[in-house]
Amino acid sequence: MDKFSVLSKYFGYKSFRNGQEQLVDSILSGSDVLGIMPTGAGKSLCYQVPAMLLEGVTIVVSPLISLMQDQVDALRASGIPAGCLNSSLSDEEYRHVLSEAYKGELKIIYAAPERLLSQGFLNLSSQIKISMLTVDEAHCISQWGQDFRPSYLKIKEFINTLEYRPVISAFTATATKEVRDDIIKILELNSPFVLTTGFDRKNLYFEVQTPRDKFTALLRIIEKNRDKCGIVYCSTRKNVEYVCSRLCEAGYNASRYHAGLSDKERKHNQDDFIYDRKTIMVATNAFGMGIDKSNVSFVVHYNMPKNIESYYQEAGRAGRDGEPASCYILYSGQDVRTNTFLINNDENSELDEESRKLVKQKELERLKYMTFYCRTAGCLREFILKYFGDSSSNYCGNCSNCNSNFETVDITIDSQKILSCIYRLRERKLRYGIGMIISILRGSKAEKVIKPGLNTLSTYGIMKECPERRCREIINLLIENGYITICGTDYPVLTLNHKSREILFEKKQLEMKLVREQISSDNSHPEDDKTDMKLFSILKELRRKTADLEGVPAYIVFSDSSLKDMCRKMPENKEQFLTVSGVGYIKSEKYGDKFLKAINEYKCGAEA
Ligand code: ADP
Ligand code: MG
Repeated sequence: MDKFSVLSKYFGYKSFRNGQEQLVDSILSGSDVLGIMPTGAGKSLCYQVPAMLLEGVTIVVSPLISLMQDQVDALRASGIPAGCLNSSLSDEEYRHVLSEAYKGELKIIYAAPERLLSQGFLNLSSQIKISMLTVDEAHCISQWGQDFRPSYLKIKEFINTLEYRPVISAFTATATKEVRDDIIKILELNSPFVLTTGFDRKNLYFEVQTPRDKFTALLRIIEKNRDKCGIVYCSTRKNVEYVCSRLCEAGYNASRYHAGLSDKERKHNQDDFIYDRKTIMVATNAFGMGIDKSNVSFVVHYNMPKNIESYYQEAGRAGRDGEPASCYILYSGQDVRTNTFLINNDENSELDEESRKLVKQKELERLKYMTFYCRTAGCLREFILKYFGDSSSNYCGNCSNCNSNFETVDITIDSQKILSCIYRLRERKLRYGIGMIISILRGSKAEKVIKPGLNTLSTYGIMKECPERRCREIINLLIENGYITICGTDYPVLTLNHKSREILFEKKQLEMKLVREQISSDNSHPEDDKTDMKLFSILKELRRKTADLEGVPAYIVFSDSSLKDMCRKMPENKEQFLTVSGVGYIKSEKYGDKFLKAINEYKCGAEA
């Protein structure tokens, strides 16, 4: 058998995606590899295909025990003999997998990193032929990555115990140079073939909103994505609780996930989502690594995340099946301040003082770029791709900025008014936060303004005509561009700096891009038009029943994109059924008759 037969027989795909074939070839030629591809690009296939062709077994190290079983189920459903060894198995299950492994019945074994050096595992590995060791989510080995796992350092120790060194393949979606170098160094990869594919995910639509009321904005997004699966990321547990309970009150089918819940509830909620029993998952960033649910159609960030790396990874969980999907951020200036606070107060105990300072500095730098992303008037996709070092045109036509009209507004005068207000307050030895400054500028009659006599300031009420929201936008822009400094120990206050002079005294002109009108994105994807939606829902229902019968998540039976391909192709026999994307011989044998029958019935009904 060759790689192409494995690809079509087991996975049901006609061709490799960008980068996959080169990685497969390198592994088969005996070379170590490091594959760097964005989430959803198809890294698993790069080691699963060669695993089927190499003699002996491939060990896959992966960080999340809770998800290994799902991966194994998916492989088995495609006819690939796989198993996993971790602490979630009962003794009996564990012994069963072990005996399969001893008998040489398994081609792929998933293991948690802490399991590798256990006696049982060492005994096994000394008696079977391990041809390849794969490290998935390999960035976990680096303390520069976002998810450092000290247990990943054990992998190298394990390799050293082996009599024959297997081929080592490592995969990650994190592209930074420090992380890449760490992976190669710590795993001691042997002149590896390193492949970085482009970071573009063409099927993802990007949008940033700066809504007055985030929850209302969220509801609108969810309505637009009716009946589809989505993840809503929030920055804190408290926000998760708030958003989830309001969604449930509003009648949506939402679940929640954060580190404050018991293991049991987390597992339960996660399964609800994976098995489509709940369509919306509200979660902190604790949710998602290794989640291979392919039919997530939208990801909303209720709060701006702290860097582009995390953002792209989390947003990238949408549209893994290659179908059109949407990624939104609901931005507010407060998000920047919360993140700054979190970074400054993160006491990572695994680092010494010196590295901690360095990490903090880097984090603040990354946060700045994340903020720029939310404020940019240019193409959002271009911004992300440039950040990762990819080249890109300045117009993608599939992000909110490309799709909306912008107008450039001269904000010089407004900026002068704001800065002189802070200046006049300073003369009275007073310093305030954003809210108070806006109240003064807009001539508020609130007691907190009148009582200390702030209505006698010459700048009181000089921005009466300017809506509060606009005032806030301009102040945020001034902060971001360094014309105002935020300081204060108890609460943040605004102060002037040397750069403020440019506007106050040196006639510096300032412009700002403001959205003329929010043309809401048109999410009716062209692909959908070609899909017969009625047949699609019939097949979805059949898939659900089939999955229920087998006790597996629906996407393990068929992905959405397979169902859509069936709707397009309307196969009439097994042979044609095999041409459907994602249908290999096992699935065709198992489900072919059932699905062909449904399609045929639909066709007859439609023609009659
Ligand atoms: P990641 O790179 O994030 O680990 P996965 O390996 O989970 O991505 O793959 C994402 C999705 O892409 C899966 O649903 C997988 O079946 C699909 N996929 C992978 N390779 C191909 C291919 N060559 N053709 C079509 N679909 C593919
Ligand atoms: Mg993966």
